[in-house]
Amino acid sequence: MQETLNRILENCRRYTLEGSVASYIPELGKANREEIGICVASEDGDYCAGDWDKAFTIQSIAKPIFLLLAVMDNGVDFVKQHVGVEATGKPFNAIDYAEPLLLREHINPMVNIGAIAVCGLVKAADNRERFERLMDFTRKITGNPDLKIDEEVYASEKRTGNKNRALGYLLKNSGMIYGSVEELLDVYFAMCSVKVTCKDLARMGLLLADHGLDRASGKQIIPKEDAVFMNAVLTTSGMYDGSGEFATRVGIPAKSGVGGGIMADCPGRMGIGIYSPALDKKGNSVAGIKMLEMLSRKLQLSIF
Ligand code: GLU
Repeated sequence: MQETLNRILENCRRYTLEGSVASYIPELGKANREEIGICVASEDGDYCAGDWDKAFTIQSIAKPIFLLLAVMDNGVDFVKQHVGVEATGKPFNAIDYAEPLLLREHINPMVNIGAIAVCGLVKAADNRERFERLMDFTRKITGNPDLKIDEEVYASEKRTGNKNRALGYLLKNSGMIYGSVEELLDVYFAMCSVKVTCKDLARMGLLLADHGLDRASGKQIIPKEDAVFMNAVLTTSGMYDGSGEFATRVGIPAKSGVGGGIMADCPGRMGIGIYSPALDKKGNSVAGIKMLEMLSRKLQLSIF
């Protein structure tokens, strides 16, 4: 496995030059687009290559965390009264939602509007507690008690995140946010700014691959049916409006973020964490997808 990862990473290094780092959040524009790392977590241990220990912000990979906790708190049926699971085919930060808001099944929780809505469904007395619960859960599912947020990225996103504010107020207008929009967005921005490494994402992937059972402790951290639900959502809409293409090329549940991360899992087999911040036009890591494609072919990972 180690040799396979080293070889795949070296073969894919050149693809980092085909993308560009996200710059709409100014602080993300400082990333080095040539960095590339991968980690696979499996029953026989962790295998890592390249810049696997470089910390970067989780960004959209916080979306499955919102959804998991919202579903664990309220059940799938309740969450589905607010958001749907149909792929939108729209960019992650699209704001043309006047019509879909009438039809909630088109508000997908893996793009910003649905993720902000679902973040608000996480049970808490106030938004401070909501953030603390989300952080604790993130530490648990990554197995990393030291996770923290990147204060610079958080401040940068809070300062410039006006499109997300627009989405928040659209949701509020439709009765889908209870309480303060600004406070809820603070939770959303802070969670997008959690600093992770490839290993953290691989561990999260392994937990989903094992349907919520943490093999090390024997504890069921996520109920099995919720992990299965999450994997299905990731398979159909985890890679923004590139999810169909990704399913045909790689064929496993995955979620990307504009920080350059991808969290993927192959049910029953392994979790995979990727970092490479040079993105394609849809916001997915170019070299990251290439590495997953090669790994999937080599190890026959496709669930199809
Ligand atoms: N924090 C980012 C935003 O809301 C997350 C986007 C992403 O990674 O897709 O714009």
